[in-house]
Amino acid sequence: MAELLVDTVPFRVGNIFCIGRNYAAHAAELGNALEEEPLVFLKPTSALIGEDAPITLPAYSQDVQHEAELVVLIGKGGADIAESGALEHVAAYGIGLDLTARDVQSEAKRKGLPWVKAKGFRTAACVSALVDARRVPDPQALHFSLTVNGETRQQGDTAMMLFSVANIVSTLSRIYGLAEGDLIYTGTPAGVSALASGDTVAVQLDGLVSAAWRVA
Ligand code: MG
Repeated sequence: MAELLVDTVPFRVGNIFCIGRNYAAHAAELGNALEEEPLVFLKPTSALIGEDAPITLPAYSQDVQHEAELVVLIGKGGADIAESGALEHVAAYGIGLDLTARDVQSEAKRKGLPWVKAKGFRTAACVSALVDARRVPDPQALHFSLTVNGETRQQGDTAMMLFSVANIVSTLSRIYGLAEGDLIYTGTPAGVSALASGDTVAVQLDGLVSAAWRVA
């Protein structure tokens, strides 16, 4: 999927940046220490799906876990963007899944190897339709949740982020530069758990947008 719909306007996707360990309770549930600046990893664009496709679990993992996350779409690129003006660079917000092959990630962490195979497989980046940023006056005041087969597994409150959306945008712009169409997954709260074939996983963002995927 190379295009996203923002209030039904198509948007071409660029880089997919992801932030790890951005909620203390989730870092704790995986036994991770907290970071001094946002922990960044990337997913390939080939991992991206909207609601038009099912999730496919890679055969090499026995533990693919859901991570519900606020997703940010960059509308105006830049480098060295100041945190104070960073939100002006955001075009839209949505809710997505940073799917993670936890067993593969744990092995990679043990060996000091990259996370791409754990985080970048086909369908590992799920995203809802996006809502125009003008409808979101404060991205640090959003609640979101995730259910699996109707049972609530994750509840998020963006006020609990360790690094704010503005801080993340500023940091990414300083190190990598940001461009129109870049997506940012902003980290997951506690409650991650494994998905199985036949599951339906659904997410909703504060009454703004929701999405659901079937696991093939
Ligand atoms: Mg994540």
